[in-house]
Amino acid sequence: MTGRAGERADFRTRPSPWFVLLESWQALFWLGVAAAAIASLTPYAARVYPAANDVALVILVGLGIVAALKLVWETLSYLARSYEFDGERVRWRGGVLRRFFDEAVLSDVRSVRIDRSIAERLVGAATIGISTAGTSGFEVVWLHIGEPDRHAQNLRRRVDAARGSERVPRPVVIGMAGGVGSGKSTVARAFASVGCLVSDSDAQAKEILTRAEIIDILVSWWGEEILTNDRAVDRSRVAAIVFADEAERRRLEGLIHPAIKQTREELVERALREGADGVVVDAPLLFEAGLDEECDAVVFVDTPRAERLRRVQGSRGWTEEELDRRERAQIGLDEKKSRSDHVIRNSGASQAELVEAARAILQAVKDKARLAG
Ligand code: ADP
Repeated sequence: MTGRAGERADFRTRPSPWFVLLESWQALFWLGVAAAAIASLTPYAARVYPAANDVALVILVGLGIVAALKLVWETLSYLARSYEFDGERVRWRGGVLRRFFDEAVLSDVRSVRIDRSIAERLVGAATIGISTAGTSGFEVVWLHIGEPDRHAQNLRRRVDAARGSERVPRPVVIGMAGGVGSGKSTVARAFASVGCLVSDSDAQAKEILTRAEIIDILVSWWGEEILTNDRAVDRSRVAAIVFADEAERRRLEGLIHPAIKQTREELVERALREGADGVVVDAPLLFEAGLDEECDAVVFVDTPRAERLRRVQGSRGWTEEELDRRERAQIGLDEKKSRSDHVIRNSGASQAELVEAARAILQAVKDKARLAG
């Protein structure tokens, strides 16, 4: 069957990039064995057959070409492949010269099986087989997919939803709060490792400041002086303007915040499509910007000031005055803590402890959101 054009998938992904090696390592291994055997036997053959060296060279070059072609072919095959579903069907598409796809109706799916070969386990991939009622084989196979557990869980949820037995739970939104250098981004990464997507407002703000239409507006306000030689926004000059003048800060926020909000909303949509459990909002000024209103729960990252100072001196080269100046512009930490739903103590916490804390909080927030309907 050929793929139908114009079909829209709610979710689409590719195999793991390891696909190319997973599909070719056996061929490459045997080609290597053959090449080694030829190379080691040739000196003996040359004693009785003088042209053996030339013949061996031709064969070795031939084997090299075969190996290269195999890699090219599997790369094209990787690029041609997609695994996808919409509200009704799950499918895979592929094929380099001939295009084809297999699909199954979600409400007919009987089982979603994860199969991990040793090679796949080494690279964190697996193969997901999807079978429908009344058949013995798999209707749809998602070969060598990365993050297989997450994808399989998402798929099972979709199957339940298509059967009408369960609503697809919406991702919970968890905000990060805490002092400067307390470890909000570090804790956000711990949440990412237990299945959340991270909305990093700093990174989003940086990206927004590279947009041409935004640069034009900033220049119309503050002149060309805020640009570097290659016409990028000089963030330190913008920071100097907005930290010195409250009205200018508000004006900048009025421009940037709606764009960040849109990016954040797109991330929640993506989380829903991909079946991620939650979205973590890592925004330095969560309460100040009123983002706590959008969150199911807020986590306060609690770290003593002396340790925060040591961290920002080390990682960002800030002075104590710089830390104080930034914190004075924010709501007090006691108030932030009392307005938060959970506290993670991040003084000397190991990465494993942070991940465990994140896992427990995510579960609690999910349970609460489910109860609330
Ligand atoms: P924030 O986002 O709150 O400003 P970051 O997550 O960027 O803070 O952390 C500030 C610095 O402290 C970083 O260099 C980070 O690596 C370090 N850090 C954070 N948490 C820990 C921890 N539990 N152990 C060791 N270093 C940490």
